[in-house]
Amino acid sequence: MTKSNVNPALAFKNADHGKSSLTKLTVKDRLAYIQKLRLYILENREELITRIQNDTGKSRSDALMSEIFGILDHLAYLEKFAVKVLKDKSVHTPMALMGKKSKIYFEPLGTILIISPWNYPFYQAIVPITAAFVTGNTAIYKPSEHTPLEGLVEEVLSACGFDENWVQVVYGNGKTGSELIAQKPDKIFFTGSEKTGKLIMRQAADLLIPVELELGGKDPMIVFEDANVKRAAAGALWGGLTNLGQSCTSVERIYVQKSIYEDFRSELVRLASQIKQETDEDGDADVGSMTTDFQLDIIRKQLEDAEQNGAKLHLENKWDGKSKMIPPQVIDGISHERLVLNEETFGPLLPVIPFETEEEAVRLANDSEYGLSASVWSKDMKRADRVARQIKTGNVSINNVMLTEGNAALPFGGVKNSGFGRYKGEAGLHSFSNLKSILLDKDSSKYEANWFPYTKEKYKLFTDMTLKLFGKGPFSTLKFILPGLKLEAYSNKVGKAGRK
Ligand code: NAD
Repeated sequence: MTKSNVNPALAFKNADHGKSSLTKLTVKDRLAYIQKLRLYILENREELITRIQNDTGKSRSDALMSEIFGILDHLAYLEKFAVKVLKDKSVHTPMALMGKKSKIYFEPLGTILIISPWNYPFYQAIVPITAAFVTGNTAIYKPSEHTPLEGLVEEVLSACGFDENWVQVVYGNGKTGSELIAQKPDKIFFTGSEKTGKLIMRQAADLLIPVELELGGKDPMIVFEDANVKRAAAGALWGGLTNLGQSCTSVERIYVQKSIYEDFRSELVRLASQIKQETDEDGDADVGSMTTDFQLDIIRKQLEDAEQNGAKLHLENKWDGKSKMIPPQVIDGISHERLVLNEETFGPLLPVIPFETEEEAVRLANDSEYGLSASVWSKDMKRADRVARQIKTGNVSINNVMLTEGNAALPFGGVKNSGFGRYKGEAGLHSFSNLKSILLDKDSSKYEANWFPYTKEKYKLFTDMTLKLFGKGPFSTLKFILPGLKLEAYSNKVGKAGRK
């Protein structure tokens, strides 16, 4: 059985034991466990969804589509591509190093500490754990104290034959997280808020632990007048309300070009009024409830701030300010400095803002401290691409929403206060690896030109070779060969004889 809730020091000791058996496995061997895990999750999905719902209150379809399907897709990606991505790689060797070879080895870092948030508790456990494992690392996982899914990760991994020291789960709050960091993991993979990200980075700095921070977002959606209004409104509805808006990449600012603004907003209001909200048992509800009580205060404050400053709430079914079943709300008439357009919301609010020009849309979208994800909607693919390139985020979907996350081959991560580092895809596997550079030379009798002794003659020959190598005209072996051979002959002679 995968170990759980051992104290931080013991967890790291166990992880060291785990390393000896894990490093004996090839990537292909490790993928046999990943395949078992994929089939186990697929087979037991209904029970897993119930467990996820018990901790989060989300709708059954949200749990199926965002957590279970997302995990299966990621595992399938690993099975198809991890061997290729982690294979020793030959890279270019420059002319000046003629006769040598250059390679990169992708080796494990050691023990990865994974600290996760509460919004996708099963996905945020299995995806980073398996990426770390396939790369050959042992993992210590600390779930959020709000959605620990107590015992579930251990149960699932054990059923698939994972050694108890390869992955361990340590439960607790921020204090436990900090105690785990103090044990000096080889890397911290953190997903959570900007505030905690800063605390973690501060603690890690003193111990020189590399950190990857996957933080919050305030994702813009830009809808141009030539977009399909009905489809774009349906996309905004899903992007803003999936998981009841408790997603780091949910749509939190909807910018719509003036000529279609009224049509778009009324379609969004019409669709939002049809949302079915329930922590259901059969998949027949769109959204469930909020997961944590403390989120309610944030949403209450943002709504009050908007309303007191002239914003209009378009749905009649208004929230009582207390229930965790917050109904969706479409808001407009908001000035750009209001909280609802600046702070992360993490709830079912859909703020709509008009714009006139492409330039204005880009400026408004970039007017945020966050830079996680965005979307651009237009029939004009040149314009959509131009705008996508100007938006300062880690991910952009064109004529779709939150779709970069739907492809496990794409790297995922943010810029600005949304964090740094990339996980998923090739970049994600490499981020859990020590990229070891190897330069192979033959054991010959040759003395290198850059070795001692340095002499006036060598200085001249080295300069000649440098000028030929990097001077005007195309790079060519022909240009380099004569000064290169002269320098080599002289360096061999003077190297063997030594300084006279
Ligand atoms: P949080 O920062 O409050 O907590 C995240 C985790 O950090 C929890 O496990 C918590 O116990 C732990 N923690 C708290 N203090 C700590 C400390 N000092 N040292 C070590 N660990 C500590 O975040 P949350 O409220 O659980 O999650 C919501 C946030 O996560 C939102 O901002 C959301 O946008 C973000 N998020 C980002 C992504 C992404 O991929 N970028 C994905 C999901 C959620």
